[in-house]
Amino acid sequence: MSARPLILLDVDGVLNVLTIDPGPGWERHTCQSWNGTYRVRLNPAHGPMLLELAEQTGAELVWATTWTDDANREIGPKIGLPKLPVIDVMAGDDEPWINPKVPPVAAYVAGRPFVWFDDELDATDRAYLADQAGVSDFLIVDVPAGLGLSAEHVQQAADWLAALTPQP
Ligand SMILES: [Mg+2]
Repeated sequence: MSARPLILLDVDGVLNVLTIDPGPGWERHTCQSWNGTYRVRLNPAHGPMLLELAEQTGAELVWATTWTDDANREIGPKIGLPKLPVIDVMAGDDEPWINPKVPPVAAYVAGRPFVWFDDELDATDRAYLADQAGVSDFLIVDVPAGLGLSAEHVQQAADWLAALTPQP
């Protein structure tokens, strides 16, 4: 099994900024997801920024979003991302005290270190992850939903990934 680190991507609140007027650099789009039509605000600089992060760190980009497969059709192409693997975050057991994405993510990573860009994870989610046998090193980068992913968040991930002990 590959020990390459993973970079987990959320959409809403990370790549789709959740504010009325996000300012320059953001573009409005109308997207179809499995559960409806959504107006989103995406930043075309994000794709190149994330691809460079993956390239520089040897990590693999993966979707971890309730858009699931629709992210590859509706989000990625609009910001310059190729088709990426998808974690089925809708497949989680119903454990109401943790974010429902967390158990499927814990199962998917299977010991690989990971950075996770998300806007909705809290201390309970971190504690749950840290307690899972299949979870090794991870960094959750908390992205404020009203600001979206920034170059500083990406740099934080780059620094953390660069400091990982190389996997055998
Ligand atoms: Mg989100």
